[in-house]
Amino acid sequence: VIEIRGLHKAYGSLEVIKGVDIVAHKGDVVSLIGSSGSGKSTILRCANLLEDSQQGDILFKGEPVKWKGAGLARQPADPKQVLRIRTNLSMVFQQFNLWAHMTILQNVMEAPITVLGRDRAEVEQAARRYLDKVGIGDKCDAYPAQLSGGQQQRAAIARALCMEPEALLFDEPTSALDPELEQEVIKVIKDLAAEGRTMLIVTHDMKMASDISSHVVFLHQGLIEEQGPPARLFGAPESERLKQFLSATV
Ligand code: ATP
Ligand code: MG
Repeated sequence: VIEIRGLHKAYGSLEVIKGVDIVAHKGDVVSLIGSSGSGKSTILRCANLLEDSQQGDILFKGEPVKWKGAGLARQPADPKQVLRIRTNLSMVFQQFNLWAHMTILQNVMEAPITVLGRDRAEVEQAARRYLDKVGIGDKCDAYPAQLSGGQQQRAAIARALCMEPEALLFDEPTSALDPELEQEVIKVIKDLAAEGRTMLIVTHDMKMASDISSHVVFLHQGLIEEQGPPARLFGAPESERLKQFLSATV
């Protein structure tokens, strides 16, 4: 579903992604791990074109992103393609980014109606179904501030699901939460993995990464230092940097 090939990204003269390849086929759960500043969030943001990149290809379902310009001036050339890719790679952020002035139900219904132009009644049905699925079907009429952090994050996941995306991108979905609340969000993500959803997950939670990933990518300073199936990566890491990283995070 998503292919990133030879990705390079700089902020001004600071090169933060230095040639990264990541592929997620349908049903894959790919986790990105690595120290702070290694480039994990940047890769997700480049993948759904929230951020420009200077070199390399990004393919969505085999369709390469069309670019115009080169180097620091490179940009996606086709706004329709950008919209199609962005709505199909739904992102869940660390800070849930719910709209404070809308109820939970309105939050979940907003984008499918305004961005995709879907039928309001059908979207409402779907929204209620996804809110049930993440366990907060009773919170439809509440406002975000009335929910716990874990409930807000589950609402944000329902909102992402309501776009009916091909894949979900998670950027540290549990790191803003207390440990007890973290578990309820992890459970929702595990359920989605068990359903065969394609997901790219940036996480600091090595237990979740090892439980649900089909593939784990360890980044170091904008490059892939080591990658592989979770059992191998966590059970028998080869690189010294990965060994160090794992011993520091356990
Ligand atoms: P963390 O675990 O702390 O979230 P990360 O792996 O997600 O880290 P990124 O946010 O991708 O790291 O950042 C990669 C590098 O890019 C860092 O050195 C960071 O300082 C730099 N960076 C990120 N965003 C910007 C920006 N908007 N402008 C300039 N530099 C940036
Ligand atoms: Mg980050």
